[in-house]
Amino acid sequence: MTETNSDSKWNSLEAEFRAQRLPDADVAASRFPVIPNVNPASEEDHAAAMEELAFGVRFGDYMAVADWSVEDGWHDRRVVPFGPLQLSPAAAVLHYSQEIFEGLKAFRWADGSIWTFRPGFNAARLNHSARRMAMPEIPLDDFIGSLVQMVRMDERWVPGVPNSSLYLRPFMIADEEFVGVRPAHHYKYVAIASPVGPYFKGGMSGVSIWVSTDFNRAAPGGTGDAKTGGNYASSLLPQRLAAEKGFEQVCYLDAETNTNLEELGGMNVFVVKKDGSVLTPRLTGTLLEGGTRSAIIQLLADRGIEVDQATIPLAWLVKAIEGGEVVEMFACGTAAIVTPIARLAGDGFDVTLDGDEVTGQILEELGGIQRGTIPDRHGWMYQLV
Ligand SMILES: *Cc1c(COP(=O)(O)O)cnc(C)c1O
Repeated sequence: MTETNSDSKWNSLEAEFRAQRLPDADVAASRFPVIPNVNPASEEDHAAAMEELAFGVRFGDYMAVADWSVEDGWHDRRVVPFGPLQLSPAAAVLHYSQEIFEGLKAFRWADGSIWTFRPGFNAARLNHSARRMAMPEIPLDDFIGSLVQMVRMDERWVPGVPNSSLYLRPFMIADEEFVGVRPAHHYKYVAIASPVGPYFKGGMSGVSIWVSTDFNRAAPGGTGDAKTGGNYASSLLPQRLAAEKGFEQVCYLDAETNTNLEELGGMNVFVVKKDGSVLTPRLTGTLLEGGTRSAIIQLLADRGIEVDQATIPLAWLVKAIEGGEVVEMFACGTAAIVTPIARLAGDGFDVTLDGDEVTGQILEELGGIQRGTIPDRHGWMYQLV
């Protein structure tokens, strides 16, 4: 059985996002003066990159940068040619990992305009991560302005083919030259952009998941609800071990009891029952609150399906899959939107799922909203160009 904690129905980030007003794009962009790139990628090079669209290997001609210091706060906002950062080997981030990041996408619509999805959610989450990592928060207008100006300069890197986008990666690092242990006194915010095709090359074909009982992603009081590089660093060994067993992704359990489903290394999970009801692990402070997760909860609510944000014991789940009570599972995140889970295995169990009806409907609806082919009834899209 599952139990629900109803007071975590909407977590703080979604509420914060809903209360925001996003700035005018032109006004926000003007905060980031541009230094032109006199040596951009050649036409041939650009054409080859747009042909390939592999995830995260090619980048635009520009990046957005801003600096923060104790004395001056945020300053020197600019969009400059994409290129190496100058960093002291004593930079704090290289030693104690004061780093946070975000991921969102810019989509080219049929009329040539370029839009991004719920950027205010990512802004709220970056600042949530910043607070946890003792880093400075960045104003909403700077976050939005950096993305608008960079995408405007990198417009030719926004692909137009189906299921493609310009992946935007804003991040912040402690770049103070100091190896003592304390929150740094100097930080750099950077946003880069990478043209991408579908995240999982197989498209809607399901992924296989290894449920780890040897490793946990996050612990109570830890950094699991912050989007910080360290969470990913610690997931690489379990990911490699799972790959050696033939699995594509790892699902983690709660560190306290090692019995309840939490999430994958970079994606949240949903469970669909035969009766059409839907569950997702409730937010406990050890899960990362995904913007895709929140949007899916809303889209399902629109269809009259109230997602049960619940404690989901692995033992119950495996039995429910075996018994046919649970017919479908999917993982979700910005990179892939949704992807069906076809196989779930761990110590002592190995079960398969072949349902993808709800997954397919969500992919079609969310994908359509993002591409401008389905009405955006919640005002989620923000025009960049
Ligand atoms: C980024 C991330 C997600 C997905 O978040 P989205 O906002 O939906 O892209 C889920 N889990 C973890 C651990 C993440 O880092």
